[in-house]
Amino acid sequence: MDNLIQDAAFRMQRYLHGLADRPVFPSPASLAALEAFDEPLPERGCSPAETLELLDRVGSPATVASAGGRYFGFVIGGTLPAALAAHLLATAWDQNAGLAIASPVADRLRRIVSKWLVDLLGLPGGAEAMFVGGATEANVCGLVAARDRVLAKVGWNAADDGLIGAPPITVVVGESAHSSIGKALAIAGLGRNRSVIVPADNQGRMIAAELPACNGPTIVVAQAGSVNSGAFDPFPAIIDWARGRGAWVHVDGAIGSWAAASPARRYLTAGIEAANSWATDGHKWLNVPYDSGMILIREPGDLLPSMSAATAYFPAGSLESAHHTLQSSQRARAVDAWAAFRSMGRAGVAELVDRCCDHAQRFALKLREAGHEILNEVVLNQVLVRFGDDARTDEVIRRLQQSGECWCGSTLWQGRHAMRISVSSWATTTDDVERSILAITAAAAS
Ligand SMILES: *Cc1c(COP(=O)(O)O)cnc(C)c1O
Repeated sequence: MDNLIQDAAFRMQRYLHGLADRPVFPSPASLAALEAFDEPLPERGCSPAETLELLDRVGSPATVASAGGRYFGFVIGGTLPAALAAHLLATAWDQNAGLAIASPVADRLRRIVSKWLVDLLGLPGGAEAMFVGGATEANVCGLVAARDRVLAKVGWNAADDGLIGAPPITVVVGESAHSSIGKALAIAGLGRNRSVIVPADNQGRMIAAELPACNGPTIVVAQAGSVNSGAFDPFPAIIDWARGRGAWVHVDGAIGSWAAASPARRYLTAGIEAANSWATDGHKWLNVPYDSGMILIREPGDLLPSMSAATAYFPAGSLESAHHTLQSSQRARAVDAWAAFRSMGRAGVAELVDRCCDHAQRFALKLREAGHEILNEVVLNQVLVRFGDDARTDEVIRRLQQSGECWCGSTLWQGRHAMRISVSSWATTTDDVERSILAITAAAAS
């Protein structure tokens, strides 16, 4: 065991050191070599040391270097050193964080991180954070709680009696909501296609004047940080509208809720504290290992009707993770976030957010200077770039990805193809940004 763990630590170190000098996307040769994994399930066990050796020799070169500083695809963060180290120790602990009785330490750390997070994001005292697999799952939790609560107010118990025959719920969603909202609505039994869609402006912000006149059980989903433009919905106007109707407000703040941690960018989230539930991600901007997201909820008891799995041998204590999230058994995700917060402090989290946003500004400035079109107002960490027409934009992205210098993906923004740059990693330095700008301008020039 000791040798194996030391060997794993050595291989991890070597991998992390190699990130700066390897192509950001694996080479065709590395991908072809994955064939080595295609073996029948061995009849007899192989040696753990040889198994780890194969994983490293074949697997490591075929990874996407998203843990390094020049990966700007999707919205993918890296892993902070403290979070990585704590995660590894917690893996050795192998705690089941579902119940306090199964892991007092996991329960304690979750409660502490919850307080820190509520404070950092400017949310109301009494709100509670539960750890889940990501913002998609957090959106599911928020919408299920919303569904149960708005129906309870008209005398219907959705958790016990289901939705067949239930009073209808009006669900209001912005035009540029993240695709996970449709998924969450489908899972919650609210349907992908029966929401009222509120049109968005040219940055993807919900146009509050277009919110529908409706009454009865109502849920509105607002967004903090569009995955394309980084834009924020106008929360104060949405909250006003919701208050008049007793509507539940859920905020998808997977990326943008972190703006609240920066004194310079907190204004973007003004008003979100009046919502009922908030989804955010740990594995994106907080830079903790996959998978990690949080559902924050004003009244944690609103999660219980659907999420409780209480039974004689599985007691319902107070604020137990197993009874407030989709999972019963779960890993101690709070450990990674605790280490990330503690190692950065309040100032460090603000600095991480600001640094990524500043890098995004630099991308926009330099690419505009080079004659390329920036499609969004860069208010956060997202930049949308277009190179002439759709075909040319696709070609530049293809060449850039092939260069291995950095990696950016493509998106469709208001009917036009664009390259999306998302700066979400603690590991990205100014040098990484300069080197990536050179790679992008080279791909666009050739
Ligand atoms: C990434 C993202 C999600 C989904 O988060 P996962 O962590 O991938 O489940 C939801 N909403 C927004 C705005 C996002 O950026």
